[in-house]
Parts: sequence; C-alpha cells; structure tokens
Amino acid sequence: MSGTAPQRMAGKPVPEPSVTSRPFWEGCAAGELRLPRCRACDGVHFYPRSACPACGGTDLDWVRSAGTGTVYATTVVHRSFWGDAWADDVPYNVAMIELDEGVRMVSAVVGVPADQVHIGMRVGVTFVPRGDTHLPFFERR
Ligand SMILES: [Zn+2]
Repeated sequence: MSGTAPQRMAGKPVPEPSVTSRPFWEGCAAGELRLPRCRACDGVHFYPRSACPACGGTDLDWVRSAGTGTVYATTVVHRSFWGDAWADDVPYNVAMIELDEGVRMVSAVVGVPADQVHIGMRVGVTFVPRGDTHLPFFERR
C-alpha cells in the first residue's frame, strides 16, 4: 500500500508521503502550504496527483499558497474514530477550506469551539506537529 493513506500507529494516524505528495508534506514541515501547479495551463490544484485535473498536463511544479481561505463546509464530530485516539478531542471540527487560490482541502479549524466554526469564516493555516510531520490546520483570521 502506498499513497497518502493514514498509517496505523499508536494514537492518531500520520500521513504516509508518496512520491507525488512528498513536496506537500515537506512544505508543511517547513511551515509552507504548497500547492501543485501545472506549467501547461498555470492552474493550481489540490490534492497532489501526477497529472493536472484541468488539462491532463504532467509538467507540474509547486507554488506556495498564501495559506488563507474561507470555510466552505463544516461539521462537528462527536465520536472518537481510530479507536479512542480522539477521545480527548470530541467534539471537534472538520472543515473543507476553500483557499484563496481557489482549491479546497479537508482540514479542521482549531482554536475555537467546534460548534462556532461556520461557513464563510475567514481562516489562515497553522501547522501542528504530529509524529515526524506537521499537519495543516486552520485558525480564525
Ligand atoms: Zn493544466
């Protein structure tokens, strides 16, 4: 099994970078939110993949996102998943963030009660250590 599927570990799972996603995770570790960019059509996309979803181009590089965006969708999770890994965190927020560059990513808004996160809330990225990596979460701006 490869790809970015979570890897079962003690506690919460951590990403397993693939050849395709490794620059994204290296960016997170460096405090940068990086997006794949297609050199053929100049479009950015997310999630990382080997071909541009707009034009099919395979000549891709990476650009740094401003790390700001808006909550596009949100929910509150009341049950711990992954065994009891999140037992101390419930209720917690899961949100789809629409970055100002126009792409969306699933993450969470941290630092505010889960039920106070709302669609349209302005947010900015923050990186939270987990295992040997950092995960991109968002804070209210
Ligand atoms: Zn393209």
